[in-house]
Amino acid sequence: MDLKLKNKCAIVTGGSRGVGKGIALALAKEGAYVVVNYNKSEKSSKDVVDEIIKNGGRALSVKADLGNSQDCINLINEAEKEFGSVDILINNAGIWPKNWIQDITLDEWKKTIDVNLTSVFLTSQAFSKNNILRKTSGKILNITSQAAFHGSTTGHAHYAASKAGVVALTVSMARELAKYGINVNAVALGIVKTDMVSKALEKNEDYYINRIPIGRVATPDDIGKIVTFMVSDAASYITGATIDATGGMLMR
Ligand code: NDP
Repeated sequence: MDLKLKNKCAIVTGGSRGVGKGIALALAKEGAYVVVNYNKSEKSSKDVVDEIIKNGGRALSVKADLGNSQDCINLINEAEKEFGSVDILINNAGIWPKNWIQDITLDEWKKTIDVNLTSVFLTSQAFSKNNILRKTSGKILNITSQAAFHGSTTGHAHYAASKAGVVALTVSMARELAKYGINVNAVALGIVKTDMVSKALEKNEDYYINRIPIGRVATPDDIGKIVTFMVSDAASYITGATIDATGGMLMR
C-alpha cells in the first residue's frame, strides 16, 4: 500500500529518543522529511537526523523547549522556513513525573500541564493557522496514554490529567478543523520500552507485563508503524479518534 508520505514534511516533537525517535525513523522510511525536535538531547537528535540522511532522507534537528510557549510557535516557524510548509504534526514529547496527590507541588503540576498539554494546543494552533491560510490540508497526531482513561495507579495523577486533556483537545480540534482538511487523532500508549519507563520496568516488570494481554511491552518501532499509518492518506477517513496501541492493556 502506498502511504503517500513521500516528500511530505512532518514535525515530531521529542523526536530525539524513545517513541519519538521510532516515529521519526518510520516516517523517514516512507519518504517524509522529518523535523526532529529536542529540548535537552541535542546529540541524540542530531544522531537521528544523521541516520535519516545516511539512508537517503531529509531531516532537520530543531531545539525547542515545549514548556515555553514561544518555543512551541518557533518550532513550527523554523520547520516552515526550512521545508516551505508542514503537512504533519506529531505531538509526542512528554514528561512523566512521579508524585502522590498529597505531595504534588503547584510548580510540578503546572510544568506537567505545560509540557504535556499546553504545548499540544500551541503547536497545533500555529500549525493549523498556517495551513488554513495556505489552504493546505494536514494531519495532527497526538500521543496520549492509557492513563488518560484509567487514571494513574502508580503516582502520576498530574500526568494522567494532562493526557486526558490531550484526548479531549484532540476531539475538539478534530471537529473544528475537519472543514479545512485537517485530521486530528491520538494514539494512546500502554508501556513502551524507553528511558521514560526503564526504571519502573526494572523494578516492577511483572506488574506491568501482567497488565498486557499481548504479553510484552511495545517497542518504539511498533509505535512508529502505527503512527505512520495514522498520518497517511490510508487513514484519511479517521478523525477525532484515539487508537489504543497498548497490547490490550487498555480495552474500551
Ligand atoms: P522519553 O522520556 O524516552 O522521551 C521523551 C521525549 O520528550 C524526549 O525526546 C525529550 O526530549 C522530549 N521532551 C521532554 N520534555 C520536553 C520539552 N520540555 N521540550 C521538548 N521536548 C521534550 O519518553 P517516551 O519516548 O517514552 O514518551 C514519548 C511519549 O509517549 C510521551 O508523550 C509519553 O507520555 C508517551 N507515553 C509513553 C509511554 C511509555 O511507556 N514509554 C506510555 C504512555 C505514553 P529531550 O531529551 O531533548 O529533552
